[in-house]
Amino acid sequence: MLPEHTDVLVVGAGPTGLAVAATLAGHGVATTVVDRLAEPPVTSRAAVVHAGTLEVLDRIGVADPLAARGLHSTRFCVRDRDRLLVTVPFDRLPSRYPYALLISQADTEAALTDRLTALGGRVLRPYELTGLDLDGGGATARFAGGDEVRARWVVGADGMHSRVRELAGIGFGGPADPGESFLLADVRVDSALPRDQVSLFLSRSGPLIWAPLPDGTVRLVATVADAPREPQARHFQALLDERGPARRPDRVTGMAWGSRFRIHHRIASSYRSGPVLLAGDAAHVHSPAGGQGMNLGLRDAVALGDALAAGPQALDGYAADRRPRAEEVLGFAAGLTRLAAAPPALRPVRDLLLRTVSVLPPARQRLAVRLAGFEPASPA
Ligand SMILES: Cc1cc2nc3c(=O)[nH]c(=O)nc-3n(C[C@H](O)[C@H](O)[C@H](O)COP(=O)(O)OP(=O)(O)OC[C@H]3O[C@@H](n4cnc5c(N)ncnc54)[C@H](O)[C@@H]3O)c2cc1C
Repeated sequence: MLPEHTDVLVVGAGPTGLAVAATLAGHGVATTVVDRLAEPPVTSRAAVVHAGTLEVLDRIGVADPLAARGLHSTRFCVRDRDRLLVTVPFDRLPSRYPYALLISQADTEAALTDRLTALGGRVLRPYELTGLDLDGGGATARFAGGDEVRARWVVGADGMHSRVRELAGIGFGGPADPGESFLLADVRVDSALPRDQVSLFLSRSGPLIWAPLPDGTVRLVATVADAPREPQARHFQALLDERGPARRPDRVTGMAWGSRFRIHHRIASSYRSGPVLLAGDAAHVHSPAGGQGMNLGLRDAVALGDALAAGPQALDGYAADRRPRAEEVLGFAAGLTRLAAAPPALRPVRDLLLRTVSVLPPARQRLAVRLAGFEPASPA
């Protein structure tokens, strides 16, 4: 049952909301977490947690249990069919977690929930936020079914179509076009590609990401102009035939789960409006190139939990600090997508650039650190 009053109301129990709640619980702040879904989703969705994010999650006691559940990938390889263009090594990262952790989002959410539970918190379901009245002392949140909760602070961790963001009147700018179109699946595949690395295939028709998952399946993500409503194994076979290894082609033998989605690059006009604070997909969305979206949200979440626990003076700092970080990640993801889809005339230049990176260890290391989501320290 919902309480009448709470210090912090977290709307949304995806990875971001759970991480905000676990951080606040660690600081002993009274927090109420709600989600409109009766049960958490079981699908794999975002499949990589980077080292920089694991370092941040370590501060709330989640990194080690998470690392124990996932597959450790020590290299990220950029390929053009059979040509290896550049290998980005993660094993020299300045981290206790020198790898990209491949893990289903459902397992990431389960590890965060376990931590929240251990700290005495829990998610209240199903409660859908439908209204929000803001005033000088906080906010009154209204839910479908008529419940009301009075909160000093409200965290919008309710995803891309955030109701909190809309009710607080915070803009979510972006182009009017329908956005980039993606196909995604976890497939069983007969492949000669090494299972300890993630591969990004660059192709004229767009990038194809190939990432091994701990359950033995392989995550494929590709941009496609006309994504079928219900993707089948044959669609992913066609993508592998067109963009994947040519000498020893991959053969799809089954599909565990598949989906299509469209994504704009968008960022909230502000991360704070009075008692309302945004984090995760409610604050920023961008292409999955480089697997940065959920990672950025998790780092937002711990920063926001710390800021809420520190007191009101820290909250403007949170908003001012995190938004430029999202702009930077959006630019990086857009650059990776442009690199992948370079027109034929520009490909020699692109390949030369990548070969230069591949023979210069400092350049490779910089790319590894960037992909791994290490952020410069916040100004004090
Ligand atoms: C099919 C698919 C594939 C993806 N693949 C990738 C990938 O490969 N790499 C990557 O980085 N990212 C991927 N993503 C994106 C990634 O899942 C998100 O970046 C991540 O989930 C964001 O976490 P979040 O907690 O901010 O928001 P969400 O995970 O969207 O969580 C928001 C929560 O808020 C709840 N909610 C919404 N509205 C209300 C309301 N009014 N009241 C109460 N609760 C509410 C929802 O039920 C949900 O549980 C994928 C997403 C999808 C759907």
